Amino acid sequence: MGKYVGIDLGTTYSVAAFINEDGLPQIIPNDNGKNTTPSTVLFEENAIIVGETAKEEGFSNPENYEAFVKRHMGERDYWFTTAEGTKYSPEEISAIILKKLKSDAEAYLGEEISGAVITVPAYFNDAQRKATMDAAAMAKMNVLSIINEPTAAALAFGISKGKQEQQTVLIYDLGGGTFDVCIMRFTDKEIISLAGEGNRALGGYDFDNKIIDYVKEKAAEQGIDITKDVYAMQDLQIKAEQAKCALSAKDKIKTSIVINVQGKPLKIVITREEFNEMIENLLTRTISVMENAMEEAGLEYSEIDKILLVGGSTRIPYVREMIEEETGIKPSSEVHPDEAVAIGAAYHALEMAKNRACEEPAEMKEAILNSLPDSKNQYQFQDVTAHGIGIISINEYNEKVNTVILPKNSKIPSEGYEEFVTLEDYQAHLLIEVTQGEEEDIRYVTVIGTSELKIKPKPGQVRIRVSIGCDSDSIIHVRVTDLQDNEDLGEMKIDRIANLTEEEVKENTEKLESLNISGE
Ligand code: AMP
Repeated sequence: MGKYVGIDLGTTYSVAAFINEDGLPQIIPNDNGKNTTPSTVLFEENAIIVGETAKEEGFSNPENYEAFVKRHMGERDYWFTTAEGTKYSPEEISAIILKKLKSDAEAYLGEEISGAVITVPAYFNDAQRKATMDAAAMAKMNVLSIINEPTAAALAFGISKGKQEQQTVLIYDLGGGTFDVCIMRFTDKEIISLAGEGNRALGGYDFDNKIIDYVKEKAAEQGIDITKDVYAMQDLQIKAEQAKCALSAKDKIKTSIVINVQGKPLKIVITREEFNEMIENLLTRTISVMENAMEEAGLEYSEIDKILLVGGSTRIPYVREMIEEETGIKPSSEVHPDEAVAIGAAYHALEMAKNRACEEPAEMKEAILNSLPDSKNQYQFQDVTAHGIGIISINEYNEKVNTVILPKNSKIPSEGYEEFVTLEDYQAHLLIEVTQGEEEDIRYVTVIGTSELKIKPKPGQVRIRVSIGCDSDSIIHVRVTDLQDNEDLGEMKIDRIANLTEEEVKENTEKLESLNISGE
């Protein structure tokens, strides 16, 4: 009948998990036996390599090596071009990583993957979520749902702890490339998001870059320009991350980086204090984001029962110190920082599979339910939107303004609507520009897509209702109703500016099918 898995598709590392026959979560090791797979891709002549080997060999073949692609999800004009000139979109690279995770999981479980829940940062916008769905479609993965990473971590935490008294938990999720804060209320069977904030370009990758800049600077003081040696630069990327992790170890107050620059060895020592100084400004930003989330939730730190750390970068001692100093709360490491997200997604995948089975005819439903493990302490969860969604309209002064229809922090799924009137007599078309942002001033919002609809031309101003819905995957839908005739004009197809078209997704699915993807 196949297995259902949870996939944490990370900026730096990806993880897959499933719920075993005893109802317990289990990480699915990759074909190297490791629980985490670097989200790295190396394009070789006859094969595409994903993971540890790609990461190790990437530095000797930098033109054909791509890492941190999650940072470019939802960017229409970003392409990775291999040395021989083949172009890949961020969705295609992510699909290649997903294909590898899927084949490793199927090899380990000895069964095909029937469905998956994929996680995304809570702060991901519509374009980034849609790009993730497209990547999964290209990898021929049956996606049951996408859920927010902090929510998945909260599910893993809630289920592992069992039923408890009501508590308010702040989830501080600092990963490889993104930062999310979510404030959640746990009741005995529900997890409710109260507020969320984030920064989609802040994480361990930036800390690595701080070390890289420091090493470049120290080398320059000795008259050495590392940037001229592309291999040394690639090697430095890996060594900087290793040095950062080494400095997180208890009692480790200094470490050194040794690289070869133009044939000569270069050694730079970094102390923990120096590293803390390098990342201080970035961590201060995470504290501001946390404060904003608190303000949105209308809470004081004294009302927070627990700060839960998630994401590999929370292993950095200075992260914990700064949080404690700021909030007076000692952060808790009760969930595994690398694995909790995939585990929460696996619980959700199982729940989704059960819900879907209930839609099947009785016999089929029984067979599917019997094949699935019992999930203990299942929680319902209620997420909120990370951004305001609206449309551009013309106000009484004939100026373009943004009207927010679905405010930030609306419960998911949800729908909101506003009424407008047509601009001209006998207007035959409606052009809807869908926006993301909270401001009325259009300079401070982003148009995420446009949609055009033919309407029945009528004299005078026709009242139109525009409804914006956010589905359980946080994907946006727009519906229009002609209020004069009380006619539902249906759902509008949004041409998403930052996403691939349906045809491109189809073409890429075929292209990816013919590729040879492996781990070594
Ligand atoms: P995640 O996205 O949660 O998998 O987190 C990955 C990030 O965590 C990467 O930037 C890693 O370098 C970082 N990381 C993992 N282990 C450590 C550690 N011991 N100290 C500092 N950063 C770490």
